[in-house]
Amino acid sequence: MVQLAREVVLDPTYPTVRAWTRRGRRAVGCFPVYTPQELVHAMGLLPVSLHGGGENVEISHADAALGSFLCSISKSTLELALTARLAPFRAFIFPYICDVSRNLEGIFSRLMPGTETHMLHLPQNFRSEATVPFLVAEYRRLIAKLERAGGEPYRPERLEASVRLFNLQRERIGELTATKRDEPDKLTLTESYLLRRLGGLLPREVHVELLDRMRSQIEDRPPRRKDAIRTLLVGPFCEQPTLDLIDLIEQAGCYIVDDELLQVHRWYGQLEVEGDPLVSLARAYVQSPVDIGVRAAPSSKGEAILRRVNDARAQGVIFLTAKFCEPALEDVVLYRKALDRQKIPYLHLEFEERSTSFEQSRLQLETFVESILFD
Ligand code: SF4
Repeated sequence: MVQLAREVVLDPTYPTVRAWTRRGRRAVGCFPVYTPQELVHAMGLLPVSLHGGGENVEISHADAALGSFLCSISKSTLELALTARLAPFRAFIFPYICDVSRNLEGIFSRLMPGTETHMLHLPQNFRSEATVPFLVAEYRRLIAKLERAGGEPYRPERLEASVRLFNLQRERIGELTATKRDEPDKLTLTESYLLRRLGGLLPREVHVELLDRMRSQIEDRPPRRKDAIRTLLVGPFCEQPTLDLIDLIEQAGCYIVDDELLQVHRWYGQLEVEGDPLVSLARAYVQSPVDIGVRAAPSSKGEAILRRVNDARAQGVIFLTAKFCEPALEDVVLYRKALDRQKIPYLHLEFEERSTSFEQSRLQLETFVESILFD
């Protein structure tokens, strides 16, 4: 299953999406993070998480359109559009998480006139009474576009059913991440990552079934204990590192016991529907206890990172940030101050999608691990 996931993830032509659209269904590309994928699903469309082109996409057109000082995911996503590899999609959602994502929506709307594009405004003031109504209005603007993209008319009961399904998927993903936290030698970070990544590519019903089948196989696995330090991985919530780099982190002697790779709807916890499901969806974003770099923290950033270190029983933190990703880099400054105060060791690495040589990263990781093991 993991091997199959690897093949699907490494194929930038979206084979699972093409299979879906060949059956007359329609797909919507969702740029990370915070896209209300439940809503897309409720309208009979397949929400697909876009995570750029990864290591397999040569950038030959997008460089001419975007500055060299931008993150790789923006360029590779544009490259996919310019080379018709996003042709199976009928609409695209770009959340306003940073200037890069915001501007991609404008570029896509000019570049792909036959598709709907939507820039989703996300509120950052979580105390105002106007915040939830504002976000509901945003979702209604999105609904109108999804209907134009071929979605079925919006019906609240369909959204409720979708929320229930996504809750199930969140629960299964939660089990996977809990296994990684409590028994980190049962599955590697790469395995956990690949299984989660499928969650944004497959119909959600299929993904839940797949994780159900994997559950007992993971439980029955004999542990493969090694001397490794429990580590929290922070930063890659949007652009994703290559599989080689993900592999390298654990090979160097870390157990990643909590991470920000692929949120797969983990940007809020279980979603309770009370009354209007659209309001519940908006409230879930506003009240989310989950803190990632593109959302103001419910508490201070320093408190948030210390709580996560504590919850994961981590011995150290690795900041793995995409090159030129300002939201992630800004938070590193705040996180580091809190970690310094508590004398918790950390390491900061930067990555790009098309990085192929990791010798320097390997050296830094091994030194970091040894400094903790032999402290
Ligand atoms: S990687 Fe960072 S800068 Fe780039 S689109 Fe994502 S959040 Fe924005």
